[in-house]
Amino acid sequence: MSTMKFDKQKYRVYTWKNWAMLHWILNPALAINELILGQRVPKISLEDKTIDKPRIERSFVPCPHCETLHDSRTWATANGTCRNCGNTIPCLTNWLSFLILAITSPIWYWFRKSLRAKWLAKQPERYENIDIEHVPNPFGEKNWIKTGLSWGAFMFIFMEIGFRSFQGKEITGRSLLVGIVLWTISGLIFGYVMKLLTNSKGKKKTSAV
Ligand SMILES: [Zn+2]
Repeated sequence: MSTMKFDKQKYRVYTWKNWAMLHWILNPALAINELILGQRVPKISLEDKTIDKPRIERSFVPCPHCETLHDSRTWATANGTCRNCGNTIPCLTNWLSFLILAITSPIWYWFRKSLRAKWLAKQPERYENIDIEHVPNPFGEKNWIKTGLSWGAFMFIFMEIGFRSFQGKEITGRSLLVGIVLWTISGLIFGYVMKLLTNSKGKKKTSAV
């Protein structure tokens, strides 16, 4: 795999050294987003600093194999591969999902080749159905509250009911009430931070004086 070089004047380069990317790796709650909701964060992404548009419209995922830049809206989880060369684009892995995958590997290990072949075969046709102007932004002006609250609701069920019973702890009215408040607030914060991250605008190119 070659080391890619990018025009630093034009692009801000995001790698694991960026706090948002580190957050994706370190926050154990995000294993849910990765394993269950199927979200992926590519190892390297670019933000075009010169376009005055929401970040989601000026973010790009470079392919390390052929250096094609993919519009981040077309590069979704369903499209984990490069549209040009068909290779897989490497993604970050959350430490907890890594652990869960490692522990459960005896279950999926034997099927991995056939699963992977099926998944790869489906990628090209997925690209054909994308209408780039109408890819919904889950953290857009209208959607972030809904997305944040759905995430909170999901986390509430998973943590306060699923994880609690798994730990052998009692589920009480009090634990449920605390959970509802906690996950509603967490969900709104999550939605709001994601809204800021996906929509912040780039600086317009200032003309040289
Ligand atoms: Zn490629």
